[in-house]
Amino acid sequence: MTLALPFDNSYARLPDRLFARQRPAPVAAPRLVALNEDLALRLGLDPAALRSDDGVAALAGNVPPEGAEPIAQAYAGHQFGGWVPQLGDGRAVLLGEIVTDGHRHDVQLKGAGRTPFSRGGDGRAWLGPVLREYLVSEAMHALGIPTTRALAAVETGETVMREAPLPGAVLTRVAASHIRVGTFQYLYARQDTDGLQALTDHVIARHYPDADGPEGLLDAVVGAQARLIARWMGVGFIHGVMNTDNMAVSGETIDYGPCAFLDSYHPDTVFSSIDRYGRYAYARQPEIAVWNLAQFATCLLPLMPDRQAAVERFTDIVNDFGVRFQAEWLDVFRTKLGLSTAEEDDAALAHRLLDILATNRDDFTLIFRGLADGSATDHVTDRPAFDQWHELWTARRQRDGLAEEDQVALMRRTNPGVIPRNHRIEEVIQAAVSGDYAPFHALHAALGTPYQDHPVFAAPPAAGEEVTATFCGT
Ligand code: AMP
Ligand code: MG
Repeated sequence: MTLALPFDNSYARLPDRLFARQRPAPVAAPRLVALNEDLALRLGLDPAALRSDDGVAALAGNVPPEGAEPIAQAYAGHQFGGWVPQLGDGRAVLLGEIVTDGHRHDVQLKGAGRTPFSRGGDGRAWLGPVLREYLVSEAMHALGIPTTRALAAVETGETVMREAPLPGAVLTRVAASHIRVGTFQYLYARQDTDGLQALTDHVIARHYPDADGPEGLLDAVVGAQARLIARWMGVGFIHGVMNTDNMAVSGETIDYGPCAFLDSYHPDTVFSSIDRYGRYAYARQPEIAVWNLAQFATCLLPLMPDRQAAVERFTDIVNDFGVRFQAEWLDVFRTKLGLSTAEEDDAALAHRLLDILATNRDDFTLIFRGLADGSATDHVTDRPAFDQWHELWTARRQRDGLAEEDQVALMRRTNPGVIPRNHRIEEVIQAAVSGDYAPFHALHAALGTPYQDHPVFAAPPAAGEEVTATFCGT
């Protein structure tokens, strides 16, 4: 019996130049390797039904669930600043949308075979990036950061050719939507104003119902991105490939290709093997967001009756990102320092600590976590500099007025004890490739409660364990 899901497919009702109807390509021998029961329940789905043969057949793309209207979405984008007029879902198929508690969720299969947007690609994914995205997106969610989520991972029983033959897999991704800055760019580049109007109306109704027209939408998206990226910075997350096609207008983190979390702190840190010039380095993420948002603003201009006036207002809104980001960043780092009030020098205090970390590339996560219980000193190289900073910080905490235990509690719920460190993810992937999923499940469980202590997973890579490059999720 085919699995039936309660789909309501609003995107498939938009102008059909925004997508191509595309059924997922069946795979040889699907095997469920991970199912997110919490998320399934939140979507109103029955985990047992998803685990059944019919459920797994649906999650593998072999038998699309009843109610699905599978499509590959069209989009364009700037990749590393270079314009690509047509990208689109080259290996993903949107099955449909599920509405629960007033929230609409895309259910998408990633690695579901070739589509009209595949260009030279095989439309498939291998197990490594699928498990990486599963772990990291779920970790982000548990950290309280807006993100797409992972509902399931299925091994396909097929091999995909990369540098070597590797086991294939399909990820079921759930998102508020998969609409990107690049989706708008796709229509803008084709001078498709009617399409832009339809997409804009759709996005406002779906994500920002209070936004007043294109200008309100721009303002809301700028705000959502400022909030999002400040939260990335707070946990040491490096997206790695902030192309305009990888920026979701919903404000969720999307596309976990070459992403990584900082172990040792330095603002210039880059992991992505294809980011040769450090365009998407840790500390450059806010300015890249502005660049992307400027592209978004450009796409909305044709919808404005007085274009010249709109250019000025849109420019102001995009430029305002800096101020909004700074405010969000300060909110994040104040709580990381256990502060509940605002003083003018707080940004300087936070930066001073970051500078001390950067000098010797000390561990970002351990030191912030260690502020609450005094163990930060175990991980700091320049003790005199840290002690000096500590005095300033202690004085500031005294002025803050919050009881010490409340400061500690605040720090413990804003400085994670565990993050998905790269070397752990690599370990998990290697084990899974050889058929052992125990490390995956253990890491996944720890990442589900990141503000508790998980000594086994807290440690940074030992000498020789460092992973210095991550590769695009192809
Ligand atoms: P990404 O680097 O994941 O953001 O992907 C950039 C573009 O390449 C998107 O249009 C993807 O759909 C496409 N793409 C990535 N991997 C594959 C693949 N294996 N087969 C077909 N298209 C792909
Ligand atoms: Mg992408």
